Amino acid sequence: MINNLLKILCLEDDVRDAEIIKELMQDAGYEISLDHVSTQKDFVQLLGSKRYDIILSDFSLPGFNAFGALRLSKDLSPETPFICVSGSIGEETAIQLLREGAVDYILKDRLVRLPFAIKRALEEIQEKEIRIKAEFELRESERRFQTLAEVSPVGIFQTDAMGFTTYVNPRWCQISELSYEEAMGNGWIKAVHEDDREKLIKGWVAATNSHQVSYAEYRFVHKDGKIAWVMGQAIPEKNTKNEIIGYVGTITDITDLKRTEEELIKARDKAEEMNRLKSNFLANMSHELRTPLVGIIGLSQVLNEDLPEGDSKRYSKLILDSGIRLKETLNLILDLSKIESETLQLNPEEIEMTEYVSSLVKVFEKTAEAKKIKLKINSDEELLYSNLDKILLNSIINNLLNNAIKYTFKGYVNIDIKKLTEDEKQLVEVSIRDTGIGIAEKNLSIIFEPFRQISEGWNRNFEGTGLGLTIVKEYVNKLDGIITVDSQLGVGSTFKVRFPLTRTKLTDTERISIVQNAAKDLTESIKNVLVKNKNNKPLILYVEDDNVSQKVVETILEKEYRVESSNDCDQVIEMVKTKHYDIILMDINLKDRLSGLDLAKEIKKLKEYLDTPIIAITAYAMVEDKEKMLSGGCTHYLSKPFSRNELLTLLNEIMMTILTRKDL
Ligand code: ADP
Repeated sequence: MINNLLKILCLEDDVRDAEIIKELMQDAGYEISLDHVSTQKDFVQLLGSKRYDIILSDFSLPGFNAFGALRLSKDLSPETPFICVSGSIGEETAIQLLREGAVDYILKDRLVRLPFAIKRALEEIQEKEIRIKAEFELRESERRFQTLAEVSPVGIFQTDAMGFTTYVNPRWCQISELSYEEAMGNGWIKAVHEDDREKLIKGWVAATNSHQVSYAEYRFVHKDGKIAWVMGQAIPEKNTKNEIIGYVGTITDITDLKRTEEELIKARDKAEEMNRLKSNFLANMSHELRTPLVGIIGLSQVLNEDLPEGDSKRYSKLILDSGIRLKETLNLILDLSKIESETLQLNPEEIEMTEYVSSLVKVFEKTAEAKKIKLKINSDEELLYSNLDKILLNSIINNLLNNAIKYTFKGYVNIDIKKLTEDEKQLVEVSIRDTGIGIAEKNLSIIFEPFRQISEGWNRNFEGTGLGLTIVKEYVNKLDGIITVDSQLGVGSTFKVRFPLTRTKLTDTERISIVQNAAKDLTESIKNVLVKNKNNKPLILYVEDDNVSQKVVETILEKEYRVESSNDCDQVIEMVKTKHYDIILMDINLKDRLSGLDLAKEIKKLKEYLDTPIIAITAYAMVEDKEKMLSGGCTHYLSKPFSRNELLTLLNEIMMTILTRKDL
């Protein structure tokens, strides 16, 4: 029906009836075009050449009737509804007409029904068209799904509400290597790896009970024993009443992914193992290098002091400097390994920055003087306290000062310590400014990277490991500080480190203890003189298996102490039982029946050695070593290689405490 114009073909031998029909339809509000024919020939001709919305046909026509007209209309225009409009028609005939495809019949004395009959016929045809369209669309969508399922790179499956498989796509069969038939029902479960079945079924049951999407990773075992890893997921399909009618899911082949994952895990394990080996190697290397360094540093120092001016004295100084450099490099490598293995333990304490940094600067005075560089320290009047780990701070300042002096050839190195306020936070800043070679802008970002030096390879102009600034930066970060650098090639560099400021005043207890310490210092120096004057040198037992180390220590201490050495555990036990030693120096790695730690414990069992200081001397300078020694019977700790000063300072400190204790 185009533009609401109803096109009617009316087969009627009575012109008046055709007119009545026309009027009736117009009265009912239809806009119509009605073609009226009365012969079979005209009927066929119009039906073949035009499209009509409805065909109305009288029953009896000259030489022809409604059955004939109905058949012709089914042939020529099968979709057009056919209504028989007749003066009289028997019920059987009417039923027969309906059976053969007429949509209705109307008796002429009830012609008023015609508009309703036409309306219904048109509605039916419309419904039919909609239905056909819907069916077509459904078929199309099924076809589309079928094609998608056929070409899908993931396996697709469908189950009923009980979870029994009702459909799988070709890719599913390819992944599982099961046929369509084998997969149906619960047949697929048989191909799932034994170890995965229970977990898979449990997960599936839990998901179906909770109406949730289920995810699972599991393995299919192929007939030839090969494994295919899959990642499966399924979602419930529901009807209009929200009842689950089944599940649709996919499986994705993740065998390659799993293999890569396994390889990655293996690689990670291997890397961890290598890291463990590296730490072990570092610990051993540290030990192996430290022990001979005791000999090199200690004896060259003794030689240097004893020899008269001349070549030999200069050579001994060169040996000493080389030994110290080797020790420093070793320390840097160990520091980096501590950072990398994340085993660095912090022991923060309040440090007065001006005093502490000044003490560190002092150590560099001689080196700076030798290079004719002025070393100046300026600081605020105030006391500037920060809560920091002394060892880390020491390393930071030493590295920065060392670089400043190393890379400066004329001019000065200035150290400024001051208070700053930034974002309402109080900070203490240590800045180290030099007039050295400076750093080009493009190199500023690489100097904090491990092993990076600006002059690298064969063109290297300066000695060093390229580790100093890496460690400095890591340590500054660990102490919640920040480091900045400002530099100009040929002009100089300024490295600044900032840390949180904790306070700027002394506490009352500190003030009192300063006064007391001043008094104590005085008495201690008096005692020192007394001890020496009496020529009553303290007796030290040195337990050490390395002959060179024994010789070094005996030589260093001969002026102030008497030293007896042994490398044999049983002999040591005899010695301590027969004589009283004031201090025991205990090497830890004795390569004997007992380790130094065990021997220390044995000695501590003797009543008269309960309070005797035992200094653990070890080349194992790795993390936690100190704690291990101190909790294992030793009272002090000295790591190899130690300098003459370090050993003497520690022994003198210990002697002071012993003497003070005796006096009390
Ligand atoms: P290195 O052992 O080589 O001194 P660092 O990590 O301490 O290693 O420093 C890395 C590089 O940064 C140095 O090789 C040097 O080129 C540059 N550098 C560091 N401090 C200074 C400085 N004060 N003046 C000029 N260059 C510096």
